[in-house]
Amino acid sequence: METPIPEEAHDEWVVIKEEVQEWIQKISHMLSEKDIPSRIALAPGCSAGMCGCTFLLLVAKKNVQAAHVNIDEYYMELHPEIRESQELVDQGRCPACGHHVGKDARECPDCGLRLIIEEA
Ligand SMILES: [Zn+2]
Repeated sequence: METPIPEEAHDEWVVIKEEVQEWIQKISHMLSEKDIPSRIALAPGCSAGMCGCTFLLLVAKKNVQAAHVNIDEYYMELHPEIRESQELVDQGRCPACGHHVGKDARECPDCGLRLIIEEA
C-alpha cells in the first residue's frame, strides 16, 4: 500500500522574515548558498514596490527551522556584538559595561542600563 503524500507537502511556503529589500535579498542569497531555496514577495499593502516598504522572505515549510538557524548565525556574523552581549547577559553581566549584576537585576547599578524591559 502506498501512503499518499499530501499536495501541500511539496510546496507549502511560509513567511519567515519581513525586512527591507536589501536585507531580504542578502538573506535569500545566503540561504541559497546553504541549499535552502527561498522566495521573495512584496509585503501586502504595497502595490508598486517603490515606496521603500518591506518585503517578505518565504521558505518551504520543511526548511523553516534550518532557515531560522542560518539567519540567526548570519546576523551574529554581521553583528558580533550581539553574540558578545548575549554572552555577557548569560553570565549575569551588564552588556554595556561588563559589571556583574546577577541574573535578576532590573538595571545595572554601575551604568544604569535597563536590563529587563518590564511589560506594562
Ligand atoms: Zn552597566
